[in-house]
Order: sequence, then structure tokens, then C-alpha cells
Amino acid sequence: MDMSIGHTLDADACSGHLIIDLKALVNNYRTLAARVSPAEASAVVKADAYGLGACHVAPALYAAGCRKFFVAHLQEAASLKPCLPADASLFILNGLQPGGEHYAANHGFIPVLNSLEQITNWQTTAQALQKTLPAILQFDTGMSRLGLSPDEVEQLLQTPSRLDDLDIHYIMSHLASADESDSAQNADQLAAMQAIAAQFPNIPLCFANSGGVFIDKTFHGALARPGVALYGAVASDKADQVLQPVVRLNVKVIQTRTVAAGARIGYGGAHIAQSEMRLATIAAGYADGLPRSLSDKGAAYCGDVRLPIIGRVSMDSIIVDISALAPDTLKLGSMVEIIGPHQTLEMIAKDAGTISYEILTSLRQRYQRDYI
Ligand SMILES: *Cc1c(COP(=O)(O)O)cnc(C)c1O
Repeated sequence: MDMSIGHTLDADACSGHLIIDLKALVNNYRTLAARVSPAEASAVVKADAYGLGACHVAPALYAAGCRKFFVAHLQEAASLKPCLPADASLFILNGLQPGGEHYAANHGFIPVLNSLEQITNWQTTAQALQKTLPAILQFDTGMSRLGLSPDEVEQLLQTPSRLDDLDIHYIMSHLASADESDSAQNADQLAAMQAIAAQFPNIPLCFANSGGVFIDKTFHGALARPGVALYGAVASDKADQVLQPVVRLNVKVIQTRTVAAGARIGYGGAHIAQSEMRLATIAAGYADGLPRSLSDKGAAYCGDVRLPIIGRVSMDSIIVDISALAPDTLKLGSMVEIIGPHQTLEMIAKDAGTISYEILTSLRQRYQRDYI
């Protein structure tokens, strides 16, 4: 008798399977890097690499030649640092909250400075530590989110000593409409950035996100910052077919049943069966990143067969209509496809009324994860 049976959790007993294709990720990085060359391509790995696991994603990209990584918060830089060789640079997009400066300086993190106040705080730290500290300077060119306002730029130019003891690696801005390659806002922001760049003639430019990579090379600057395109999402109306899907998600069937016409299905009895139908309940819900807005909208797939979501999405499960399948096709433990060859990330995002970014970053921890 094998005494080990039942003492370790078998991966096959998982509720769902999230497959993250690191080879496709690396191919996407190479595609983007070639597109921006001779500019350099960094990687945006904030939010745990858009939910896919920064400590898996970043080392794979490092092995492919990427040396510069962007996160949003200091805490993210702290957890990513042990996963990367020491010569990788970690940039912090949101800059630092007061109190984080000494920790960031001691660990060699490079903040994006978004305001005169963040500049002052970082300079004060440099002076206290009696060393020059690295930084990126961000400018607001029309998104009104982060970066120095035109007014602050004026003040900075009048008092250049505000940058003493700082080593500004890049000047940077962020595009608000890069996914729409024809949007007039792109050209407006580029012109605003070029006017600022003329005031900082010796500092290279960091500009394009994923969408910006696909507009044209005037947007590439010296360092591009793609995020979502690395993860296989369609980042631009110009990016179709160029990038490989990185994520597949299959979810297990928990139970199947046949219901009669008039049966109420799911919370609130919101869906009433119009005729006899066969249903399967699958093991993922809104706590697993399948938004409640998919209620009565989205679908799972079994092979080529679309299995519409019926009734409301629950926290841990979803009911799908399997009437189109031969009886007994699905049973406890069968897998259905949520993201894969029949249903892209974009399709599920569209059904949910959101964007692929939000689906990716919501997938969370309850699936068995396999990195291939
Ligand atoms: C998130 C982010 C990026 C990456 O954007 P994608 O559209 O995912 O490529 C780049 N720059 C900044 C400032 C960001 O916040």
C-alpha cells in the first residue's frame, strides 16, 4: 500500500489550469525589441507582471536580453529584486511615497520622479547619503495623471539646482491613446514631449508603451516601455497578428444536470430556462478573475462548441449551457476552455465590457499555474 496517497496535493485535482507560455512571452519581447531597435526595449512587470507572476516573467525576459524592468510600487521592486541578477535595473513608475526613499536608495531602485515634491525628497535623500542617486523625470504631456505639469517644468528650468546630486537617466512621458494609432492625441503628446526634450538636450527619452511601439518610430525614443503586448494582448489597432498568445485558461467541470423548461438558473433566478436544457457548473467565478459582468453574456468552449454562460457569475463557479454537446461529453473533472485557441483574451474582455489588462491582472491565485 502506498502510504503517500492523499498526503500531497495532486496538481491534477486543481479547479483550473492557467498555462503561461514563457516561450511566447520571450518571442513577444524579441518582436517588440526588433520593432524599436536601435532604441532599447524594457519590460513593464508591474502588478506581478500583469498577474502572470513577475518572478517567472522577469527572469525569462532577462535571459532574452532585457535589462530594464518597470514596476509601479516600491514593494513590487522589493519582491522582484531577489528574482533578478544584480545588473538588472528596477524602475518605479509611481515614484516613492515619503519614507520610502532611503530603502529605495539602499537597494539601488530607480524612481520615476513625478512632481517637484518627489524631486526634492529624492535630492534630500541623495544629500543625506552623500551620493548621486539615479532617477527618471516624468512629464505630463496631456494625460493629467502623473508627471511634472507645464508650470512645474517652468520652475524646474528656473532652478536647475533642484537636480543637483541626481543622475537623470531618462526623461519620460506616457501616452493616453496609444492603442488608437490614428488618435490626434498621440501627435499632440509627442510634440509636447519634443518641446520638453529640447530643454534637456543630453538626456535620452523614454516614451512608448505597447501601443506606442506600433505607432511609428518617432514614438520610440531611446527606451520603450511595453507591458501588455509582452503578455500577448492586442495592444494597438496596428498590432494584430504580430504577437503570440501567452495565456491559456482551462477550468474544470464540477457538476452537470438537465433542467426542465421554467427552471431558475443561478443567483436571483435571473435566468429562466425557456426549454429543457443541459447545464454544467464550472469551477471558477468572479473571485478567479471572471467578472460578474459576464453574467448571461460570455462563454466557455469545449472544442469548437461555444457554451454560453447562463445566469449570474457566482464567486467560485459559473453555469454554462452544454445542450449543444453530445450527452456525457462533460463530467466531473472535464476541462472547458476560457482563454485559448477558441476564445482570446480580447473576446472575453469584450464580453465582460472591459479590457484585456483587467482580465489578465484579475486571474489571481486559485488556478494551478504551469509555466511552459
Ligand atoms: C502600465 C504602463 C506602461 C505599460 O503600458 P502597456 O500599455 O501595458 O504597454 C508603460 N508606462 C507607464 C507609465 C505605465 O503606467
